[in-house]
Amino acid sequence: MTGGIGARVRAGVRYAELPMLRAYRLWFEHTRKCEECKRVHRAQDGCAAGRNLWDAYRHIRGGGN
Ligand SMILES: [Zn+2]
Repeated sequence: MTGGIGARVRAGVRYAELPMLRAYRLWFEHTRKCEECKRVHRAQDGCAAGRNLWDAYRHIRGGGN
């Protein structure tokens, strides 16, 4: 009994409460792995997958408008 599963469940709840941060993290992790997105200075200039992730983040961030 180490409490490891409980910690993972709490992390999952935290991500569910912050979809914006989760979307941003997905995009950020993609840019670190993707040669194309790593090169560009703006998310809009990245590959299709990178732009998709960035659009999803912007959509959530601007969802209140
Ligand atoms: Zn990419």
